[in-house]
Amino acid sequence: MADETPEWPPAELDFDKPTIARAYDALLGGKDNFAVDRALADQTAELIPGLRESAIENRKVLVRGVRYLAREAGMDQFLDLGSGLPTVENTHEVAQRENPGARVVYVDIDPLVSVHGRALLANNDVTKVMTADVRDPGAVLSAPGVKGFLDFSRPAVIMLVGMLHYLSPDVVDDVVSAYRDVLVPGSHLFITSLVDTGLPQQQELARITRENLEEGWARTPEEIEAQFAGFELIEPGVTYTALWRPDGPVDPGDLAPGEQLGMAGIAVKL
Ligand code: SAM
Repeated sequence: MADETPEWPPAELDFDKPTIARAYDALLGGKDNFAVDRALADQTAELIPGLRESAIENRKVLVRGVRYLAREAGMDQFLDLGSGLPTVENTHEVAQRENPGARVVYVDIDPLVSVHGRALLANNDVTKVMTADVRDPGAVLSAPGVKGFLDFSRPAVIMLVGMLHYLSPDVVDDVVSAYRDVLVPGSHLFITSLVDTGLPQQQELARITRENLEEGWARTPEEIEAQFAGFELIEPGVTYTALWRPDGPVDPGDLAPGEQLGMAGIAVKL
């Protein structure tokens, strides 16, 4: 069950301004978005070749990553930060297919995520959803739905999937290190992010995102790797999402434009 009883419509709901969660849902072809979100998704997709495919690749690597974590790494606790609106193959579905007892907490700043999550999770005792700002790790980690539900004296997973690029340069190091610090050895950190490998569309997407959704930062692979400090990256390290443990062969020399917008990495705490 969800640990909140959100109002409908949530008081903060603004139909005139796009939000990150709803615009991303629109990019993925979901139904939980408004005209203003669809307009932003359409306009941005026109300017950035492969943007929709990039969102789909991000979802695919989320599934492969969670499957790896639950199946091969034996993880049974997941704190999914910036979890997004429910879509197909959500973190709890992938993790609980491997281990029905795996606990998942979804955290998102968009109140619509709790509303839809609550409906989806009505009969699920091992998954919770809460509305909170990831940039306040103290509040997130001490919230009853997190502190009383996940046991941080045992290995756990922190996920910042499709989320790191919404943390501005002035907060990113402090925020991510606060989450890393709460984890015991054997825990994992799973990050995907908009990347800057020198292609103009990467910084262009960051700029459009900042202008319309307040935050949006493309980072170099080295800057993304720096967020795993104190952790050991598992193979293949920080790499384009399509190349992170793909289910079938992928030619690294033949990536489509949308496959060069994001990178992924998973690391284990030493
Ligand atoms: N993790 C999902 C995935 O990879 O498919 C969703 C990614 S979506 C691109 C980013 C999500 O992060 C959105 O749902 C947005 O509302 C959320 N988000 C952005 N900034 C946030 C913040 N400061 N605190 C909590 N959530 C945030």
